[in-house]
Amino acid sequence: MNAHDRERFWNERAHELLTWSQPWSKACPDSFDAAPGWFAGATLDVSANCLDRHVAAGRADVPALIWQGEPEDEAVVFTYGRLLADVRRAAVVLAGLGVSAGDVVGIALPALPELVVSMLALARLGAVHLVFPAGLSPAVISERLGACKAKLFITADGFYKAGRPVPLVQPQDVPRRVLVRRTGRPMEDQRPGDVWWHEAIAAHPTPPNLPGAMHGASDPLFILYTSGSSGHPKGVVHSAGGFLTACASSAREGFGVGPGMTIWCQAEPGWIMGHAYAVYAPLCLGATTLLYEGSPGYPQPDRIWRIAQKHQVATLLTTPALTGQLMREGEAWPAARDLPSLKFIVSVGEKLTPENRSWLARSVGKGRAPVVDAWGQTETGGVLMLSGSQGGLAPLSGVEAGVEPGVQAGGHLAILSPWPGMAVRLVEGSLDAKEHYDTGDLVQTTPDGKFIIQGRSELAGSDLPLVDVEACVAAYPDVAEAAAVASGDTVVVYATLRAEAADPEHMESVLTDAVRREVSGPEFPLSIRIVEELPKTRSGKIARNALRGAAEGRMGDVSGLADPSVMSTLLGDKDALF
Ligand code: AMP
Repeated sequence: MNAHDRERFWNERAHELLTWSQPWSKACPDSFDAAPGWFAGATLDVSANCLDRHVAAGRADVPALIWQGEPEDEAVVFTYGRLLADVRRAAVVLAGLGVSAGDVVGIALPALPELVVSMLALARLGAVHLVFPAGLSPAVISERLGACKAKLFITADGFYKAGRPVPLVQPQDVPRRVLVRRTGRPMEDQRPGDVWWHEAIAAHPTPPNLPGAMHGASDPLFILYTSGSSGHPKGVVHSAGGFLTACASSAREGFGVGPGMTIWCQAEPGWIMGHAYAVYAPLCLGATTLLYEGSPGYPQPDRIWRIAQKHQVATLLTTPALTGQLMREGEAWPAARDLPSLKFIVSVGEKLTPENRSWLARSVGKGRAPVVDAWGQTETGGVLMLSGSQGGLAPLSGVEAGVEPGVQAGGHLAILSPWPGMAVRLVEGSLDAKEHYDTGDLVQTTPDGKFIIQGRSELAGSDLPLVDVEACVAAYPDVAEAAAVASGDTVVVYATLRAEAADPEHMESVLTDAVRREVSGPEFPLSIRIVEELPKTRSGKIARNALRGAAEGRMGDVSGLADPSVMSTLLGDKDALF
């Protein structure tokens, strides 16, 4: 696509997808250096794009958000009319607490309706939300609130997990708090200045007629930190006009999202895919988004499938981590549920293995709903590449991808020309993108020009065939998940087994033989280690840097892990490795 076609493409998309208040002089910047220049001069009202315009078009009674609580009988349907009313009330409350355009507000909420309402209310004020994913340590939350100069902190008394109310651990050093009541259990550390959300909202029984703030197209809409699967998490800033255009475009083109359909994005709302596909894109496109509060396997491993059936989900956006977990529970659970409404299954966040793909296609899609792999990063503001149902990723329309050669075998995936969803800057500093944007992911190309992602390059080993070894182990039917890391000259593969698999010692020798036979040759220094659990980041990605530490007997920095105790178990077993 030449610069002229690209400009025309995004020009048309932005007009089709969004309502703008002030037109732009030029849609598309010429280079990444000028990336904040998307839709230069234009303004838009983000919350009106997500809410008011659908209500004005006579769709006030259409469901915008379906919230399913962990207790089965707690499900609430928010129509576009109701969501708009709730957002207006919340915006007035937040304005009354001193929030105005450009202010940053931290949000650490479980998957409750108030999370969506507060994000949109902040957008309505022109303020910037900074959502924290579940399980982040209180110290990290305080540090990020400080780094972003947050003015307010919205959090909750707790949440439900596997049937139990669990308190949210509260960071100490935070700005004034707004507290959402979920469990109703007494909070130990009430602080002066705390405001209860339900009390403040109750003061506005009639939703005030508060018009939305205008965003300049490149004004910040939110800040989000990367998951840190590859090192220290960085805060990236996404723009109102660019992000909204790109995420709505990818959801419509890539996942068939539109009016009258329900999308369930199972990635947490506190990660980029959740921002894009659980909140902004479905609402922008007038679709219905489903938010589930609880554990996927509670009270039984078919909970996910029951929810999808009950709420007639059409697009299921899932992750390999969750799929792996469900696969371990056995195929009988999804097999017992017919999901006639399901049209499309998308997996995002990590490589979709052929085993995961065929399991999803067979047991969940029942041969009717195709399964596609989708690639994106926090920095890219959502999905940029999608596979066909046979694998190999291709860029979505308006996106140009290529290979940055020479770094390591295969090279890095590079995005060759600007597209509107690219983050505009970092909290500290600017993004390193000039001629093109180097994603840092190792990639190979197929003969027909598709891309196969092999993971973050800094996680790859030296010359060792980690990718091939890992694929060989993961392909074994009894293996649930596998990750290969390099420790000196040795490849160490950590693997978990499916519930019904044979005994671990036997599997270790079977897999060692398989790798030596199919990949490496007999002399290859290899250690296969069957473990109960792999260390994961909070977004459910396998933390390969932590595994490399474990293979070398180091605990390393475990602050990014969902459950650091997994590392202690791995290290306890270390002597058995070699
Ligand atoms: P984050 O920005 O923390 O959400 O992580 C983004 C990273 O996840 C990417 O740079 C990739 O390494 C990885 N990733 C995301 N989607 C895929 C996918 N479909 N296949 C392989 N890796 C993926």
